[in-house]
Amino acid sequence: MNIGTVFLVGAGPGDPKLITVRGREALATADVVVYDRLIGAELLTHVRADAEKIFVGKEAARHALPQDEINALLVEQALAGKSVCRLKGGDPFVFGRGGEEALFCRAHGVPFEIVPGVSSAIAAPAYAGIPVTQREVATSFAVVTGHTKDDEAPPENLPVADTIVFLMGVRALPKIVRALRAQGRAATTPVALVRWGTTTDQQVVTGTLETIEGDVERAALKPPALIVVGEVVNLREQLQWFDNPVTRPLWGQTIIVTRAREQASGLVEGLQQRGAKVLQCPTIRAEALEKFTVVDDAIARLNGFDWVVFSSANGVAHFWNRLQHAGKDARALAQSQIAAIGPATQQALAARGLNADFLPSVSISETVADELIARGVAGRRILLARAMEGREVLEARLRQAGAEVLLAPCYRTLTDNSNVESARAAIEKGEVDWVTFSSSSTVTNFLDALGRNFIAEHRACFRVACIGPITAQTAAENGLAPDAVAESAGIEALIAALEKTS
Ligand code: SAH
Repeated sequence: MNIGTVFLVGAGPGDPKLITVRGREALATADVVVYDRLIGAELLTHVRADAEKIFVGKEAARHALPQDEINALLVEQALAGKSVCRLKGGDPFVFGRGGEEALFCRAHGVPFEIVPGVSSAIAAPAYAGIPVTQREVATSFAVVTGHTKDDEAPPENLPVADTIVFLMGVRALPKIVRALRAQGRAATTPVALVRWGTTTDQQVVTGTLETIEGDVERAALKPPALIVVGEVVNLREQLQWFDNPVTRPLWGQTIIVTRAREQASGLVEGLQQRGAKVLQCPTIRAEALEKFTVVDDAIARLNGFDWVVFSSANGVAHFWNRLQHAGKDARALAQSQIAAIGPATQQALAARGLNADFLPSVSISETVADELIARGVAGRRILLARAMEGREVLEARLRQAGAEVLLAPCYRTLTDNSNVESARAAIEKGEVDWVTFSSSSTVTNFLDALGRNFIAEHRACFRVACIGPITAQTAAENGLAPDAVAESAGIEALIAALEKTS
């Protein structure tokens, strides 16, 4: 049997986007992924669905799996012919024991590759606004482990460098301070501790060699954190770009997004870009239907329709699957006018080479109906491509106006409970600042999933933001009167409303 390769991959410092392109490739193709504690859950979404994920969690002084067992596991999997991604925080060769794992592979004839990562030693200071070198301030930096056993002497033979970064050093802080003073560093030397650097949980404490122990104690700062010592720390005053409510107005806000995962990425990224910590709690997901009779029939005679109305990006995607299934392409819609409800729907069509002929001014069924009717629908044949579940208003109004309407369900929405427990726990702990709703069904599904009593009890703990007037009305009717409502439909407006009220 072929021997698999072991990829020792640096996952980057915490922000899941700071993995390298090569690292992501290795992650996406591996048969087995062996990962540590400091790896963000989001990175694991790149792993193949059929790949095995093995957690070997590492914490200072407490290894879920001892190093020699990790070594053995990697070799065993590779010898069984599997491609193994060994995912490690930061860079695999910076206090990551990557060297030991590579040597063990070599000793057992297992091929390996190293994929360097962005080390927290540089990235966490960078996200705190601290460059590790700076002309005329620091021309050298050293990275040192602060991990010494309690009864051991302080880190000896500290390297001589303008900037020193200590990893694994929070508990040894008093010893580190003493050692630096003994080395001749002034009591006024600036020091920063960065905890959970590059993530939305980032916490920074600054002081001097003289004050830092008290500063850290007052802030109750716990590991994992690193310590930066040197004049460069002062640059944070001017360069604090990440954990900064001025440049990133939603910094420090925890926001629940209830939109279905397939549609949430724009909102999630927009919120994160502004500094928010996002908890996804989708309560619905879109799924293909078991039977597509109506939509398949419609597709078979598409040129008989004057209008095809798409009500969601999901609708477009699922309709498209059926179109392709029938061996057709965009040309099948050449005889029809196309209506797109909402900008996301318009984009989904554009991605398939179709310009919508009509976009309603507001994505509310009543308005869509009025504006379509204004274009003259009597005697026209109209296909509504949408979810199985939905309001009947549009269909009814168009019929009243004399149109011949065919309702073609293209997908259905199901409940998704995957993250309900963590959302509930966060609300219970008072950690949640906002809950966002992007449709009436997200409101009712969220209430059903978390429990109406639970929400009523905790209503004072968080604020509510809604994407538009109908959603806002549903929220209000269900005891979730919104604190912010987007001025126009669309995620940019929702984010703007949140920012204004935060
Ligand atoms: N190979 C890793 C370091 C492993 S040692 C790298 O290159 O980053 C683990 C130590 O790194 C932690 O104890 C902590 O001191 C530091 N560390 C890792 N991630 C961190 C982060 N996001 N913020 C601050 N320190 C971090």
